[in-house]
Amino acid sequence: YFERVLAIELMAYAEDCWLLQVADITQTDRLDSMRRDFVANVSHELRTPLTVLSGFVETLQEMEVDAEARQRYVHIMGEQSQRMQSIVEDLLRLSSIESAPPPPDQPVDMARLIDKLHRDAEALSGGRHRIVLDSEGQGNLLGSESELVSALANLVSNAVRYTPSGGTITLIWRVSAAGAEFAVQDTGIGIEPEHIPRLTERFYRVDRGRSRSAGGTGLGLAIAKHCLSRHQATLEITSTPGAGSRFAANFPAGRVTGG
Ligand code: ADP
Repeated sequence: YFERVLAIELMAYAEDCWLLQVADITQTDRLDSMRRDFVANVSHELRTPLTVLSGFVETLQEMEVDAEARQRYVHIMGEQSQRMQSIVEDLLRLSSIESAPPPPDQPVDMARLIDKLHRDAEALSGGRHRIVLDSEGQGNLLGSESELVSALANLVSNAVRYTPSGGTITLIWRVSAAGAEFAVQDTGIGIEPEHIPRLTERFYRVDRGRSRSAGGTGLGLAIAKHCLSRHQATLEITSTPGAGSRFAANFPAGRVTGG
């Protein structure tokens, strides 16, 4: 069956003459409801840390607490304000990518970019994982370095955050006549198939508690997908629950330059 939203208006046009106007507002209605959901999500995400923060402020104002408790409370307050800052920064990043036109294309030195991602992964992991680099073929990408870093660094940091200690994270870079692929393969917790199509939705998380304790905002993959689609790249996600995941960004040949 069809599920459309129609706006129907009956107007007196002239004497004995009526005008029936039927407009298909399905798309507008859908956008409106997405916008409402988004505002509700943002409010909810910010309200949680705010409630914790204001609770501790009140406690510190109204109760006598010893130095040790005070230190603990201040630490939690610091974490919560850091959390709000990450959410706001990610929201601003998302809105700037959505509203601004794509920056002019530049050749992006991929060897340098991947080396930086490798070092960032090592730093984030702090020696808890084996980080492997697997690169084949020569070539660079045409695009925006800052947007590519945003997208690819998110895939790398997710792999580190969702892989228990002792796991392996492989950064893969392949260039061929068909295009280029940057993939991150991990031996982490994996994802049940029903979640995969929704991962790039804003604020969608498989396990809210785990994402929060790993410092996530639920916006990383939404930002990554947006940055990638500005480069005509697709994000392919494959995963085996309990065994690991692979997030691959596939760039068309037209985005590959030099060698
Ligand atoms: P978050 O800030 O929560 O990590 P993202 O948008 O980056 O938000 O990712 C959305 C969700 O996708 C995560 O909360 C997590 O459930 C899942 N996810 C992302 N990357 C991985 C991965 N490498 N392994 C397992 N789950 C992942």
